Amino acid sequence: MLANKTALITGSTSGIGLGIAKALARQGANIVLNGFGDTETPQKEIAALGAQVAYHGADMSKPAEIEAMMAFVAERFGRVDILVNNAGIQHVARVENFPTEKWDAIMAINLSSAFHASRLALPAMLKANWGRIINVASVHGLVASAEKSAYVAAKHGVVGLTKVTALENATTGVTCNAICPGWVLTPLVQKQVDAKAEALGLSGEEATKRLLGEKEPSMQFTTPEELGALAVFFCSPAANNVRGVAWNMDGGWTAQ
Ligand code: NAD
Repeated sequence: MLANKTALITGSTSGIGLGIAKALARQGANIVLNGFGDTETPQKEIAALGAQVAYHGADMSKPAEIEAMMAFVAERFGRVDILVNNAGIQHVARVENFPTEKWDAIMAINLSSAFHASRLALPAMLKANWGRIINVASVHGLVASAEKSAYVAAKHGVVGLTKVTALENATTGVTCNAICPGWVLTPLVQKQVDAKAEALGLSGEEATKRLLGEKEPSMQFTTPEELGALAVFFCSPAANNVRGVAWNMDGGWTAQ
């Protein structure tokens, strides 16, 4: 379905971004990965699915590096057809204790990077009259949890940016939508499970149950594979008129 399309997924060396990259690769898209850590294994995994794959190590908190990444994709594949703004970090602390440098980093990586990548991808998408911008927001784009001020503010911002981007392009073939996962067991969440286990003297299993039980009625994690399938739907012709939604995959979290 996505042959000859190029997808750039930010923060795709692990977790949700890698899950979405694999799902788009299975549909035949060329894949550009981004993110830190082990960059070789994810490239091999994507190549094994038969997709063309490239990697750019832009730090998504730095606009100049985002510009360099977009130029790299244009040079290598022509343009970005599918932009998945996924890179994100978390920090947990009460407002009065929240380190200002963590606030700035979360705003830059979780919110501003989506603006920069979108503004740079849109001209070529509009010229082609086809494009998909998928912003990985969160249930925290819709509701709040204590001790996550920067994350919740950034993710609410991402949902707002999604709506504006969708509206500005509503008469074109370029759509913009957000995905709002509940808990997904990735390194980002494993850290929170470990912190809970440590703080409350619980086993990993008990801490996991506690974490899910506080928020997610299904008592199950959403998986990167499920989120990948939703991204594929947003890229399909059936989603041509799905514009500006913030779509939960949250086990009932925000239905409460
Ligand atoms: P993760 O830690 O597994 O992956 C984050 C990715 O972002 C990694 O590839 C990492 O290298 C990359 N990254 C971090 N800082 C970066 C930077 N400055 N520049 C470039 N890349 C950077 O986390 P995840 O859980 O897969 O999170 C992915 C997205 O999903 C985030 O936006 C997160 O807020 C969102 N999300 C996660 C959950 C969850 O429960 N895990 C729930 C809702 C939303």
